[in-house]
Amino acid sequence: MSSLPLLDPSVDHALQLIVTGVSTEETCTTDLAAGPWDFDTRPGYGPGSSMGDVIPTGAPHQGALPAAYRDASEDELEDRIRAAKQTLGDRVVVLGHFYQREEVVRHADYVGDSFQLAQAALDRPEAEAIVFCGVHFMAETADLLSSPDQAVILPNLAAGCSMADMADIDQVEDCWEQLADIYGPLDEQDADGLVPVVPVTYMNSSAAIKGFVGRHGGIVCTSSNAKTVLEWAFARGRRVLFFPDQHLGRNTAKAMGVPLERMPLWNPRKALGGSTPAELEDARVLLWHGFCSVHRRFTTAQIEQARIEHPGVRVIVHPECPMEVVDAADEAGSTAYIRRAIEEATEPTTFAIGTEINLVRRLAAQHPQHEIFCLDPVVCPCSTMYRIHPGYLAWVLEELVAGRTVNRISVAADVAEPARVALERMLAAKPEAASA
Ligand code: SF4
Repeated sequence: MSSLPLLDPSVDHALQLIVTGVSTEETCTTDLAAGPWDFDTRPGYGPGSSMGDVIPTGAPHQGALPAAYRDASEDELEDRIRAAKQTLGDRVVVLGHFYQREEVVRHADYVGDSFQLAQAALDRPEAEAIVFCGVHFMAETADLLSSPDQAVILPNLAAGCSMADMADIDQVEDCWEQLADIYGPLDEQDADGLVPVVPVTYMNSSAAIKGFVGRHGGIVCTSSNAKTVLEWAFARGRRVLFFPDQHLGRNTAKAMGVPLERMPLWNPRKALGGSTPAELEDARVLLWHGFCSVHRRFTTAQIEQARIEHPGVRVIVHPECPMEVVDAADEAGSTAYIRRAIEEATEPTTFAIGTEINLVRRLAAQHPQHEIFCLDPVVCPCSTMYRIHPGYLAWVLEELVAGRTVNRISVAADVAEPARVALERMLAAKPEAASA
């Protein structure tokens, strides 16, 4: 093994130190030290923050990774990935999400959030293959935005996103029918030119949901532009149906002045989502019952503890965190916001960050002038991102070298067309002040 750098942001190495007893840090489960292939046949996402979430039936299935990759050392995989990338040259572009493990991210040509990465792929039209080291919905979005002759590859098909999976297309179609029973024809404008409800989906949703939204006059949002997108939707409808993340929807609408009692939760397992017709009639935002298991781990108690232990600490959390956590923090914002806030801090500052641990550790390594730590004291990465082990990356790249494309993600044309419409509406939506 090569010696680890002095300031090693790798969560994987931190886990190895915990399970071997060298470090006294805590981990959410010592199973994390095993390879993700040990969990590929199980019904959940495997160890990590979303280990309790079930993989939906019908989700793509990952076949067995050849033993040569499972058994290879970290150094061997590193060399094989580098060699394959060199052989492929401009024919391949590797994208790495902010929450991805360090051993994978270091091979990425671009690192960013899901939408930044899908757009980065547009800068490389000469690449025949886009290897997306993220989760399933991200690879789908890259496929929507890339040219038809580019193959988007997800190194491990078991890398879904438990939050995206919480809005299943059949449940959403069923919800839409129930809302039509309450509100009347959903495409009919009232005297003010407003339809009863506009569907808005977070980028973290399947292409099928983006397509549904596109077909029904709706729009996609990211955690950076959710307010702008809600303004767009309120200019066209009496209400918004927001999915899959209830927390992003609630935090954004609350900051815009929507009262909590006008934001009922839509639980797809209950009739009328668990609300009365009167509550639905009065609703301004219907929040789908979805959440991110990573960001749900953050608590107000962690913030109180950080303030006791680090007087003057600046607490920044992601808007996928529960409302009381966002309220107790100093600031809330997307991964892009968090990165910018740290980069722009001119004085040495202590930051407590409420988002995925791989990103927090990388930020800490990149900004040694600041003290940066994760609000959650337990080392617990996003289970679904964690499925992309360097072994899978080496495998898909070497298959490309051999002239074979494995794990291609393709969105069917009838879904892709309306999904692109919903994405284009998002790109065209402007903040209120800017559009004036
Ligand atoms: S951090 Fe949450 S939203 Fe992001 S991929 Fe993981 S489970 Fe999905």
